[in-house]
Amino acid sequence: MKKIICFAGLLMLCQQAVCLAEAKVTTERGRGSLFQFRQIPLPAINDAASTAKISIVAGEDDGNGAGVKALVDGEIPSGDDDPGANFFFAGGEARRFVIDLGKATNVKNVASYSWHPDERAPQVYTLYGAGEGHTTAMSSLEAGQSPADNGWTKVADVDTRRNRGPRGGQHAALIEDPKANLGTYRYLLFDVSKADANSPFGETFFSEIDVIDADAKDVERIKTPDPVLVTFDADGGKYEFTIDATMAPDLKDWSEEKLKPVVIEWYPKIVKMLDSDGFDPIKKVTLRFQNDMGGTPAWAAGPNIALNIEWYRGQLKGEALGAAVHELVHVAQMYPNVRRDDAKPGWVQEGVADYVRWFLYEPQTRGAEITARSLPNARYDASYRVTGNFLDWASRTYDKDLVKKLNASVRQGKYSSDFWKETTGLTEQELNDAWIAYHTKRLQKN
Ligand SMILES: [Zn+2]
Repeated sequence: MKKIICFAGLLMLCQQAVCLAEAKVTTERGRGSLFQFRQIPLPAINDAASTAKISIVAGEDDGNGAGVKALVDGEIPSGDDDPGANFFFAGGEARRFVIDLGKATNVKNVASYSWHPDERAPQVYTLYGAGEGHTTAMSSLEAGQSPADNGWTKVADVDTRRNRGPRGGQHAALIEDPKANLGTYRYLLFDVSKADANSPFGETFFSEIDVIDADAKDVERIKTPDPVLVTFDADGGKYEFTIDATMAPDLKDWSEEKLKPVVIEWYPKIVKMLDSDGFDPIKKVTLRFQNDMGGTPAWAAGPNIALNIEWYRGQLKGEALGAAVHELVHVAQMYPNVRRDDAKPGWVQEGVADYVRWFLYEPQTRGAEITARSLPNARYDASYRVTGNFLDWASRTYDKDLVKKLNASVRQGKYSSDFWKETTGLTEQELNDAWIAYHTKRLQKN
């Protein structure tokens, strides 16, 4: 805690409790499949912020997130990469939002929670408070002026970053004054900095902010369910897996009996099949059942695979396992973060995943056949199963290692459309024509 220094000329102000000691900030990393901290309590549901109005006064809301309402909805993300359950800025010269508690509130403490696998996890902000009738100071905030020079009282600096170790994970910060309350405020201003100034993705995923009213009676907090996990390894311990069914315990048995054996067999197989010079595959993979994915059945990001609970419940005897194999391919692809679409074409990324799924994992389902109906619209770069069919045909016709080579060229950032000519002697268009001709002939025969 910092010492209170009251200069003679400021004495008048100090007497109005403006010159409070700087609050103590406790920061902590959680380690559960959902928020879980040792010292800092879980987010509150009925805290003073839960009914507050929040306005962004500087910076832009990133439309891929849930907007500022996510900050006070009393709900937490279901995983570490859950943009739809977080608020984050898209950028701006300054990043500021104000929580209007609606009335002067005797604030006991303020807590903030964030979660991301990497640079969007840490929180870096300065908290200011202001009393009733302070709205006139709001306009000055947009211009990025100093809040302290405009009537705001600085409460605390928060920075959950560490010099060493991983950046990602669950971050929580608790601002309190162990000997008193933080002060009486109606408005709380969060003056936020990017968690990683050098990264284009350095904006914090803020999950929840709580303001605890010292005069409130019962603070109700979220309860996180006990983790429901299926953990196992593959290839003699080389790869480790966690299937997290915490949000859908009814899917645990299916995960154990059906999904686990497929992962054990297919991840090492896929990694081997997509091997390339210098390739160091991801060794720890998490598959997590989530209920915040909209209509998307499954996705993969880095070592994480998200599985849509509702979709999976309906597909256990249908596409459930095949979709998981498709996502395991994405984990193994490890394509670089390039913005140039010609170096990392989406149709190749999805086509390789669907080729493995439909032609190697479940050829008996014939799920990627070209039919008389689909032929007129078939194109090599139509992505997913259509591209999968093209890759199967090209592998059988020209080079059995074609998919491996194709994958390696994208992974190594070397891919261009020249790949096709170099590998098969034909351009993309010539290959497309030959592939269409093959199917046309095949369908005429039948
Ligand atoms: Zn995919």
